[in-house]
Amino acid sequence: MMNSGLQYPIFGPEIPCPHCRQQIPALTLTDTYLCPRHGAFEANPETGELIHLQSGRHWRRWGEQWYRQHTHPDGIRFEIHEALDKLYTQGYRATKVIIAKRYKDLVSAYLERSTPWRGNGDAQNPRLYGLPVEFSSDSPDQSYWEVINFDLEKEPGVPVRYPYYRLFE
Ligand SMILES: [Zn+2]
Repeated sequence: MMNSGLQYPIFGPEIPCPHCRQQIPALTLTDTYLCPRHGAFEANPETGELIHLQSGRHWRRWGEQWYRQHTHPDGIRFEIHEALDKLYTQGYRATKVIIAKRYKDLVSAYLERSTPWRGNGDAQNPRLYGLPVEFSSDSPDQSYWEVINFDLEKEPGVPVRYPYYRLFE
């Protein structure tokens, strides 16, 4: 155990490539994994992140899943957009978006806010794609929320008045 830990990067002898999900091997005695299609990924033992050397993209891992770490608001907004789209095709409607607290500063300026003159009492409540947004501050499992980017609360049903038109504005 000790020896193999020294030989391989922190994620072990092989990982699924974050881009194509193919299993890719570690190069022994380095922190590098090599995908034949996507090139080199470097594990950072200090941050626990995997970095794609070519693009500079960062990922963190939870279980077998990689979560891209966003540095620009468009990146996380696009990922939420895609997840909403997928949920919709699965026959669900989202009722709330919960975004990891570490993105609060990054995305806050980009959230929709109710106009105060409507007087509907939720002028402070931010929205994204028409859905109420919360941040993960009250989560009991902080380590999970340090890896994942967001979660969607959903309910089954045909989304009759679901504001999907907003996605295409
Ligand atoms: Zn790949």
